[in-house]
Amino acid sequence: MRLELVEIKCYKKRTLKRIHVLIFILIFIILIILIAYAIAKRRTNQLQNIAMSNAEKQENSQELLIESGEQSKEKIKLPNLTEEAKNRIKHIYRSDEKVAYLTFDDGPSSTVTPFVLDVLKDNNIKATFFLLGKQVEAYPEIVKRAYEEGHYIANHGYSHVYKQIYETPEKVLEEYQKTEVAIQDAIEIPEYHTHLIRFPGGSKGNKYEEIIAQAINLLEENNITYVDWNCLTGDSVGKNDKEAMLQELANTSYGKNSIVILMHDASNKILTYEILQDAINYLKEQGYTFKNFYDLME
Ligand SMILES: [Zn+2]
Repeated sequence: MRLELVEIKCYKKRTLKRIHVLIFILIFIILIILIAYAIAKRRTNQLQNIAMSNAEKQENSQELLIESGEQSKEKIKLPNLTEEAKNRIKHIYRSDEKVAYLTFDDGPSSTVTPFVLDVLKDNNIKATFFLLGKQVEAYPEIVKRAYEEGHYIANHGYSHVYKQIYETPEKVLEEYQKTEVAIQDAIEIPEYHTHLIRFPGGSKGNKYEEIIAQAINLLEENNITYVDWNCLTGDSVGKNDKEAMLQELANTSYGKNSIVILMHDASNKILTYEILQDAINYLKEQGYTFKNFYDLME
């Protein structure tokens, strides 16, 4: 009897022990499941965060792309010579408002053009540059700067040698086109066309007038127009002191509402940029506002 009791007790003890072990194993398994679940959740969150930040980054970079696309679009200004624009240029000297067009011929040069650009930038004035093809090929980076700073890039032929350019009307067109290619290369915009030439020496009053008159028709057939000037500082006709140049500007602008001012930024025209600030101040005092040929082409 006693022995039986002892056996029963032992059996109970063993059973209890087994239950304890089972409970322990169960708790252990639950713990492991919980830990595994926590790790898995954490990993999922991390992956989600990475995915989200990647998506954000992509969105941002797309925005940046769009922005930079808009910026470069804004930077690219292409002259558009419509019939209205042709008319505006033809009648450029007629205006009810006082308007001044600063124009620079024969550049770019490394000794004058960058300083002219600095003065224009300081005054927030956009000018028009009639460039020589051979100079464009020598200083493409200056052309690019002028273009990017909002100045109108126009054409002044390639050689500036009268005998060459005015040999035939076709020669004029040929020099124009050669200069266009040089400009397109310099500003890295193949679709840029100036549509605008200033004849070296002007369109009238010289012995090449007849050839130039024929060239005007030929250029017009190719959607190219031209402009002379009605005001100057005399920087190409022997005015070599600042006072005389400013006086010439005052004399030749007197009584005119719309003035197209002839100046030069060839390598020896140091005085042109030296008087530029005074010239701008004078014109402002006289009530002129400044425009360039983009304002006429739009
Ligand atoms: Zn010239």
